[in-house]
Amino acid sequence: MKSLPGQNAEAQRRRLGGYDNNGTADDNTEGVPANANNSNRNDNTTANINTLIELGLSGEVIEKLKALKGKGLDVNGIILESLEKREEELKERKLKQSAKVGNCELKRKAEGKKPSRYLASETKKILKEEYGTKCSVPGCKRGADHLHHTARFALTGSNDSRFLAPLCREHHEIAHLIDRKVVNKKIS
Ligand SMILES: [Zn+2]
Ligand SMILES: [Zn+2]
Repeated sequence: MKSLPGQNAEAQRRRLGGYDNNGTADDNTEGVPANANNSNRNDNTTANINTLIELGLSGEVIEKLKALKGKGLDVNGIILESLEKREEELKERKLKQSAKVGNCELKRKAEGKKPSRYLASETKKILKEEYGTKCSVPGCKRGADHLHHTARFALTGSNDSRFLAPLCREHHEIAHLIDRKVVNKKIS
């Protein structure tokens, strides 16, 4: 049976058991990835150090973390736990505020008043704690310029923080361009 050249070479490699066609050991090819791994490790260490510098931890925080570590405690676990607690608290506050805003909006409606675009300070605070000071579009590093109604205000009349997101000027313009197109499409 005649085999294809590729299969032949593969069979030969298998017969030679780790040796290439020239009869030399695979040491060279093993050596290259090993070096590559080393440089990867160095790159990772550099990246980790750069991230630590970027985080700008204060001397006080660093000392506290060092003291915890010195006691043999799981520093990462402690940080993760407090971050999760923060997220939980924020989620609860957001739900509570949504209910409050929802009630106010229902009351306005019942009184025959037009929906107000006024944002309660607690809503703004929650959004700031959730998104920080930057645009909420993933990867965008520009500062937030607008609190955008993700559910169209004209339709919902709602200032519920679940439907608000900070956007930079550029992304806010894009969001409204897309929105206008959708509206135009619906009318025509
Ligand atoms: Zn908007
Ligand atoms: Zn943006």
